[in-house]
Amino acid sequence: MANHAFVPKLLVIDDEEAIRDGVSQLFSRQGFEVDAAVGGRQGLAKLRENDFHVVLLDLRMPDLEGDEVLRRIKAENLDVDVIMITGHGTIEQAVAAMKSGAYDFITKPFVPWQLKQVVGRAVEARRLKAERDRLARERERGLWEITTEKTRLKAVINSMHEGVLIADPDLRVVLCNPALSKMMGLEQAPAAGAGLGQEPALAPLVELAEELLEAEEELAVITRELAHAEDRPAHLRASISHVQNERGETLGLVTVLEDVSAFKELERKKSEFVAMVTHELRSPLGAIDTQLKVLLRGLAGELNQKQQHLFGRMQKRLGGVVDLITDLLDLSKIEAQSFVQQKKTVDLGPLVEEACGLLRPNAQEKELVLELSLAPELPQILADPDSLKEVATNLISNAIRYTPQGGRVKVATEFDGSYVHLVVSDTGIGIDPADQERIFDKFYRVKSEQTRYIVGTGLGLPIVKAIVDDHLGSVEVESKPGQGATFRVKLPMMV
Ligand code: ADP
Repeated sequence: MANHAFVPKLLVIDDEEAIRDGVSQLFSRQGFEVDAAVGGRQGLAKLRENDFHVVLLDLRMPDLEGDEVLRRIKAENLDVDVIMITGHGTIEQAVAAMKSGAYDFITKPFVPWQLKQVVGRAVEARRLKAERDRLARERERGLWEITTEKTRLKAVINSMHEGVLIADPDLRVVLCNPALSKMMGLEQAPAAGAGLGQEPALAPLVELAEELLEAEEELAVITRELAHAEDRPAHLRASISHVQNERGETLGLVTVLEDVSAFKELERKKSEFVAMVTHELRSPLGAIDTQLKVLLRGLAGELNQKQQHLFGRMQKRLGGVVDLITDLLDLSKIEAQSFVQQKKTVDLGPLVEEACGLLRPNAQEKELVLELSLAPELPQILADPDSLKEVATNLISNAIRYTPQGGRVKVATEFDGSYVHLVVSDTGIGIDPADQERIFDKFYRVKSEQTRYIVGTGLGLPIVKAIVDDHLGSVEVESKPGQGATFRVKLPMMV
């Protein structure tokens, strides 16, 4: 610990030059800083001016006696340990000096090792004290830093735009910032230590917290939009996660609340805009398609082979654009929440059968086996039949498109006691785990040698997901590259 190296400072006050020189030489060699004074007055002056750890003080001096110097040192509270140098046979004076507060004494004549021992003891005590003081100072500074850090952190959290709620594992409030109180419609912030459950307005957050704490697998975070309620912004998104120490133990939970209403409104407007544009595009494209059909049938004059070929290609490309526009329109309508949906009691089986029938020619064209296995007595569900047909069509058409010739596509319905399942599995190219997370994103298409020549928009699965979400269901994929894929849609049965 070189930076805390302790250099002892010694002052010798003696009228005998030999003693002053001897002491100076002896202790300079030991690494001390040594100073000397020829008498009591000069010694006191030096002590007042500089800090010394130890002073060697001769008792007998002409100008000011040693015991008087000692008395003044004590009276003036000078922080130095005094070692008295007493003459032979003056033991009573030495005892008197000790009583007046001298640290130690040494009797003349002495040899260097005796002096070293006495001074060494005093210096060691000073060194230990200096070290103790240093540690205490550091501890104090550390505490102060932690305290100011805490206040600073609190000030930052309190001035955040997002709502922040920190709770201990027993769901008692540790900190709740004003933004959170306001968003949750509280008159005033709950006091630290109050149970979260005591405040009815916080019930949705308690529910989330319990879900996180009770989760079987270690969940890092749960993010969810809170159901709409009065006294709150229209769209609130809550993220809740564990607060852990460096050993990974849970100290509590932190919830961050964001008002995403503006963002949602923007999304809705964007979807409305896309719906409007695609709608406007569809009619002229439809007209072009009709006119191409007229040309291709030779109703506007006989076409030669080359013209026939070119018009045929135009029609095919146009078909691709119309498909994209139809998908975009569907998706934006679902997102703008203007999808015309008439939910009624429906049987899933016939809808799936119909979708299979429509796509059978496509399967036959690729020499695929299309198998249908419907569960008997499937409970009914509350759904929009056209949307459900679209879900089935998209999944089956994907299975056909992403399965090479000679493969197999199986469409099944099942029931697990609460949910009705639609399962579409194939023996096709499969999906890499990294892509599985993204295929439900808009416009996401897996780019690989195998998918290169398969046309698509990247909108089929997002449409499936949006419709399924709207029916309070879920959709999952299970797949290994090269070993086919299984898509499973679960829809709640009607109760
Ligand atoms: P599209 O098929 O029009 O590209 P989708 O949204 O329907 O768009 O699908 C997104 C991507 O997911 C596809 O591009 C494809 O890479 C992958 N995918 C979907 N279904 C399957 C499947 N059954 N087998 C393998 N890959 C699939």
